Amino acid sequence: MQKKEIPYKIYLEESEMPKSWYNLRADMVNKPAPLLNPATLKPVKLEEIEPVFCTELAKQELDDTTREIAIPEEIQNFYRMYRPSPLVRAYCLEEKLQTPAKIYYKFEGNNTSGSHKLNSAIAQAYYAKKQGLKGVTTETGAGQWGTALSMACSYFDLDCKVYMVKVSYEQKPFRREVMRTYGASVTPSPSETTEVGKRILKEHPGTTGSLGCAISEAVEVAVKSEGYRYVLGSVLNQVLLHQSVIGLETKTALDKYGIKPDIIIGCAGGGSNLGGLIAPFMGEKIKGNLDCRFIAVEPASCPSLTRGKFAYDFCDTGKVCPLAKMYTLGCDFIPAPNHAGGLRYHGMSSLLSQLYDDGLMEAISVEQTAVFKAAEEFARIEGILPAPESSHAIKAAIDEALKCKETGEEKTIVFGLTGTGYFDMVAYEKFHDGKMSDYIPSDEELQKGFDGLPVIK
Ligand SMILES: *Cc1c(COP(=O)(O)O)cnc(C)c1O
Repeated sequence: MQKKEIPYKIYLEESEMPKSWYNLRADMVNKPAPLLNPATLKPVKLEEIEPVFCTELAKQELDDTTREIAIPEEIQNFYRMYRPSPLVRAYCLEEKLQTPAKIYYKFEGNNTSGSHKLNSAIAQAYYAKKQGLKGVTTETGAGQWGTALSMACSYFDLDCKVYMVKVSYEQKPFRREVMRTYGASVTPSPSETTEVGKRILKEHPGTTGSLGCAISEAVEVAVKSEGYRYVLGSVLNQVLLHQSVIGLETKTALDKYGIKPDIIIGCAGGGSNLGGLIAPFMGEKIKGNLDCRFIAVEPASCPSLTRGKFAYDFCDTGKVCPLAKMYTLGCDFIPAPNHAGGLRYHGMSSLLSQLYDDGLMEAISVEQTAVFKAAEEFARIEGILPAPESSHAIKAAIDEALKCKETGEEKTIVFGLTGTGYFDMVAYEKFHDGKMSDYIPSDEELQKGFDGLPVIK
C-alpha cells in the first residue's frame, strides 16, 4: 500500500534539529500590541521590566523584528537529551475512525515534566544563570510548568520558588514531590508569605486560588528578593519564541516527505504550545506560500478566544504585572474547576490573539466529558495516555477526521500532543465513574469578568 511509505514515526537526526528559534512576530503584518505600563499606560520600556524579568528574556519579549534568534549551545545540548520529539503518523487511529484523512501528532510528553513546557523552562533558566542570578520565582497551576522549571533550575544550579495554586497543591501531592525532588520549594497560593497573598486571603477567605493570584505572589517575591527574577511558562512572546522548536521540527519532518498540512490543531491555555507549533507554518501562510487552517481548541469552561473580549487587561489578579492586549475573560474571572488545569488562564497570548483577530487562526471550544471520551479513545488505540489539556486537540482532530470521512477528503491533519496524563488520574476516575460535569459559564457570569476590565484612554 502506498500509504505505508511514510513511517509510523518521523524522527529527525540530531543534526536536523533547529539551531535558531523562529520569531513569528518578524513576519506578522499586524504585530501583537505592546505591553503597557499600568501606571503610565505607555508601552513598557526594557528598563521598566528588567526588575521583573531576566534582561535577555525581556529583550526577546520586546523584539518584534529579529526573525531568527540563535539557540545558545548549552540549550541545544539540553534539548538533545529529550529532543527531537517524534512526529507520529496516527495510522491506528485513522484505521479505527475509517477516515481518509492523514493524521499526525507531534508528541511532547517524552520528558520527566511530561509536557512541552521544558522547552521554554530550560531557556529561561539558562538566561537567569548567565545573568548571575541566584534564582527564579514562578507560579504553577496544574503543575507541569513548575515541574519543568524545577528540572531546568536544578540543571543550572539555580534556586526555584514555586507558587502552586492551592487546589492543585492539595489535589496533586505527587506533582509537588516531583518538584521538591528537583530541589524547588513549593508554596500553596494564596499564602501568607506575600502582601498580595494576605490581601487576597482577607478578601476571599477559604479561596482555593487561581493562576492569576499565584502570578501576583511570585512577582512580588521576585521583585523583593535580591538576585531573583520572575519567569512565566506561557502567554508571553518569549515563551512562544522558545516553543517554536516544536513547529520547526514538525516542519522539517513533514518537508522530508513533501507533506503539506491542511489543518493544524492545538489546545490553547495561554497559547505557548499552539503558538510554537504553528509558527513556521503561519509564517508561510502570511507570505502566501501555504494554504492551511489553524485551529485553537479551548475548554468551554474557560473560553477566552471564543467568548472573550479583545482588550487590554491585567495578566494577574493582583494587578501588579503590565497590561497586555489579548482575548480575555477579565483578570478577576475564576473558571469552574475544570480538570485541564493548564487551560484555565483568563487570557490568551497577545500574539495568538492578534492572529485570531486578523482571521488567520480559528478557535473552537469543547466540553470536558467529550474531551475525556476522545482521550480514552486515543489512549486505547495509540497507546499514549494523554494529558487532559492535550486531549482538547485530540477531540478536535478526531472531529475533523470524521468530517473527512463524510466528504471523502484526504486532508492532512497535524495536532500537538502536548503531554501525558499520569498525574491526572483523579480526573480520569471522575470520568469513568460518570461524575464529570460540563460547566459552561453564563453570559452574566462572563459579564462580571468584563466589568472588571481596565478602562484605557
Ligand atoms: C500548560 C500546558 C498546556 C497549555 O499551555 P499553553 O501555553 O497553551 O500551551 C497544554 N498542555 C499541557 C500538557 C500543558 O502542560
